[in-house]
Amino acid sequence: MNSSPLQVLQGVFGYPEFRYQQAEIIDTLLQGGDALVLMPTGGGKSLCYQIPALVRPGVGVVVSPLIALMQDQVNALRQLGIRAAFLNSTLDSRQRYETEQAFLRGEMDLLYVAPERLLMDQMLTLMDRSRIALFAIDEAHCVSQWGHDFRKEYQQLSVLHQRFPEVPRIALTATADERTRREIVEQLDLGRARVFLHSFDRPNIRYTLAEGQGGREALWRFLEREHPGEAGIVYCLSRKKVETTAEWLSARGREALPYHAGLPDLVRYRHQERFLREDGLIIVATIAFGMGIDKPDVRFVAHLSLPKSIEAYYQETGRAGRNGQPADAWMAYGLQDVIILRQMVQESDAAEPFKRVALHKLEAMLGLCELTSCRRQVLLAYFGEHQETPCGNCDNCLAPPITRDARVAAQQALSCVYRTGQRFGVGYLVAVLLGRVDDRIRRNGHDRVSTFGIGKELTEREWHSLFRQLIARSVLAIDPEGFGALHFTESCRPYLRGEVPLQLRRRQTVTAKKSERRREPGQPHDSVRPQDRGLFEGLRALRKRLAEQQGLPPFAIFHDATLIDLVKRRPASLEGLRGILGIGEIKLQRYGTLLIECLREYPMPKLLDNTLSDTVNETLVMYTQGFTPAEIATRRAFKSSTIYNHLAAAIEVGLLDARQCLPLTPGEYDAIAFAVVQLNICAEGKIAPLHEALGQVYDYGVLRCVVAAECG
Ligand code: ADP
Ligand code: ZN
Repeated sequence: MNSSPLQVLQGVFGYPEFRYQQAEIIDTLLQGGDALVLMPTGGGKSLCYQIPALVRPGVGVVVSPLIALMQDQVNALRQLGIRAAFLNSTLDSRQRYETEQAFLRGEMDLLYVAPERLLMDQMLTLMDRSRIALFAIDEAHCVSQWGHDFRKEYQQLSVLHQRFPEVPRIALTATADERTRREIVEQLDLGRARVFLHSFDRPNIRYTLAEGQGGREALWRFLEREHPGEAGIVYCLSRKKVETTAEWLSARGREALPYHAGLPDLVRYRHQERFLREDGLIIVATIAFGMGIDKPDVRFVAHLSLPKSIEAYYQETGRAGRNGQPADAWMAYGLQDVIILRQMVQESDAAEPFKRVALHKLEAMLGLCELTSCRRQVLLAYFGEHQETPCGNCDNCLAPPITRDARVAAQQALSCVYRTGQRFGVGYLVAVLLGRVDDRIRRNGHDRVSTFGIGKELTEREWHSLFRQLIARSVLAIDPEGFGALHFTESCRPYLRGEVPLQLRRRQTVTAKKSERRREPGQPHDSVRPQDRGLFEGLRALRKRLAEQQGLPPFAIFHDATLIDLVKRRPASLEGLRGILGIGEIKLQRYGTLLIECLREYPMPKLLDNTLSDTVNETLVMYTQGFTPAEIATRRAFKSSTIYNHLAAAIEVGLLDARQCLPLTPGEYDAIAFAVVQLNICAEGKIAPLHEALGQVYDYGVLRCVVAAECG
């Protein structure tokens, strides 16, 4: 292929321009240089090696640990007319032989290979005999033995450089703190690579980290309020919790499937496939689920347990909203998680330094949970990125928690731990602080210690939260054998003296601004206007049919972004499809006619071809469907005057005839119109005098409609 990168981007992929640093990255490779690319999920890493592989002579070899994904990736590329193939353990010997031969003959643009296969002598010899355009090392953070995706084969990939020094290499990842970054450079011998560090921010993801127990009910409320009928992932710590949560969600009427390492391969495979291919499914999983997941329309990732580290949290939540549409990262965690995770680290067979790192990472995660300021700022700071202003799209920004200085309370809490002999758990200590007498407290004589009842200013919940913070900061430690008894650590001194600032999160106020993004139930996408929804659903159905015919997931045919662009622009001809996002030459040839037919099936009614607000159009859509204003009001749970106001907006711009749409006789209408002129309403702009003058019998909204017609 002898085109420029931009020509390939437009002609093959159907995208008008490069994003971020894609062009520079591609250029680096085309000039024979190496690149290290750090870009968030959904940023567009794949194009960075796919395009140079197409432009440079030879085959691009892509190393990827995601075997489950290779088939889909290759299929999606073939949809674009790209000659792609893969080599991994799922092929039989004949398929493997054929792929190898095509590779040798150079009849291929891209070859995806699992790392263990790439390192086999046979594969290395094969590559000696072929022309290679570049090596792409995807998910490069897998070289890090501190990380959670460690792959030992990755540490041997430097062999590529030794054996093929002239072939440019590109390593890509979406998770890499500075330490991991250094490891990638060292292990992969990338000292001379240009580093492309893109912001890690995922602005479309809203972070919410709710404290407290009872996570399951809270999860249910979250799902019902924010994501009715939408696809997402729920992460739990244990297999058992995965099973029970999936059953519980299913019993309540959501389709939810379990996924964990203890399930038979076939079941896991089936559940993953269904998640990829069906709409609106929930996967409940341990962290075993995710590496192979490239579903672009995951609308939420919920954690019912605390992740082990911020890296893990960021990677897991990063699976939401890959297509750039609004998505949620929601979490509910309890103190129990902290205890279990700490224990898991402490009791593991790992070496001491590893345990120390693991505990530090857990502390950082807890710090994020207890935070009272913008979550995103802290998340990004963790990855070495500074963001000047609070994000406005996390729970703490949207509903700032009311905080209060908790230094004195912390002193009281610590003192209570001390006076009771460092032998009791949180529940007991809180009871003493609140001055509650029970048999145990009386028997132990703790109703007579100086801290008995000194904590009545705080609620029980606030005390729990305070203890959680003290534990999170390792001021207090939990003795695992002592039934959760708390004792001091060496870092408690400055807290005892009240020297460390400590904020207590008070009861969170109701998430006030949540409604900003509120959607009507069943509305599929924020970016699809009500009047475009019919067409959008029609296109979705077409996509589904095409996908089923070819045994592919729907997004391999068209991304949501393509469908959204189609409903926005409604091209009328094949030629008009050319500029649509994600439609390159091959897709145009394959699907163009079907798309145009579908577009014709859902013409835009004149009334709805407007730029009025979504809520007005919601009403107008129902109006075109034959509902009366009263019926619309009932269905939308609005006052009928609101509905009339919506109609007035359409009347004012000449889209509706007031005489036809109002429940007025011609005589009534004329009487109102007459009064409008008499009272000079058009100039005054107020409806109240009109309402008065007509004896208060007409709805304000109805009057507004007449005014809109007569004055407009
Ligand atoms: P990553 O591997 O970084 O998570 P992908 O390579 O899968 O991300 O890209 C995410 C999405 O963005 C894909 O749907 C891809 O087709 C799309 N994309 C990538 N680059 C561009 C671009 N320049 N213009 C429009 N869409 C793009
Ligand atoms: Zn924020």
